[in-house]
Amino acid sequence: MSSRFLFRRSLLAAGLAAVVAASTSLAEPIAKQPHQVPGYYRMNIGELEVTALYDGYVHFDPAWLKGISKDNLQNLLNEMFINTEEGIQTAVNGYLINTGSHLILVDAGAAECFGPTMGSLANNLRASGYKPEQIDTVLLTHLHPDHSCGVANADGTPAFPNAIIYVPQAEAEFWLDTAMGDIAETDQAFFDMTRTAMAPYTEEKLQRYQPDDTLLPGVKSVPAYGHTPGHTAYLFSSGTERLMVWGDIVHNHAVQFAHPDVVIEADVDTDQARASRLQLLSRSSAQKFWIAGAHLPFPGLGHVRVKSDAYAWVPAEFSPIVDSLESAE
Ligand SMILES: [Zn+2]
Repeated sequence: MSSRFLFRRSLLAAGLAAVVAASTSLAEPIAKQPHQVPGYYRMNIGELEVTALYDGYVHFDPAWLKGISKDNLQNLLNEMFINTEEGIQTAVNGYLINTGSHLILVDAGAAECFGPTMGSLANNLRASGYKPEQIDTVLLTHLHPDHSCGVANADGTPAFPNAIIYVPQAEAEFWLDTAMGDIAETDQAFFDMTRTAMAPYTEEKLQRYQPDDTLLPGVKSVPAYGHTPGHTAYLFSSGTERLMVWGDIVHNHAVQFAHPDVVIEADVDTDQARASRLQLLSRSSAQKFWIAGAHLPFPGLGHVRVKSDAYAWVPAEFSPIVDSLESAE
């Protein structure tokens, strides 16, 4: 056998070995990592440190969006590549604002009220570097359970033992004071959930406030009634910067910026909810507020701009914390 032949044979063998190796690696795929990055996102707005906290997601039926034809609705969802097979996947977000002298949480997530797709806010708060005991103020936009259940632990103790919980008076009256007998049977479970969540807080810790009351320096409540009777946004100021944490003003970014007249099934007063949305969209776009939205795609931070005769959402771009990079140099 010539050495040249042997050389060719060993090349062939090496080639075969490579093929075998390749097919072996096809048979055993590289294991995928089952975990997402922690659900928090941080940015500075003026002197405020703002941390978006992901509580999870919920699917809602597209038919809940009302005041638009079925075709038109489907087109808007298609344009944004939103898959509706299981319903519209909708984020549930809370926001932690460190003012330097106060640590404020706006909305507390669903805790265990709606099953495993929600209730991650507390874990994401810890992942973001803070502890629940550090929070001194909780501002609730409204008392729907996906915003309020998180104020209590599963064992009925306060999730934020050192915080005062602020609730708009009209909202507290509706959810906490209405006699159960006067509530539609189908809604009673919701009322029960939020009452159970608020129960661990004494009257001193659960502060009801009027729209004109000053809550904290640099923080104003902005009545945006309709979705619920006392639904309220919070406007944070730092220097010339403004951040509006607006709760449930928009439930779907693909639909309600382009068609702010579209309402959602869960609105208690649809006409009032629509009017509040129009007012806040107009004000936010004109004054170039930063927006934080409880049901906008996480982290739900960005701006509203005018587009044609309606609006469009401009999400924040991922950025490092520039201040800390500079001080680290
Ligand atoms: Zn909500």
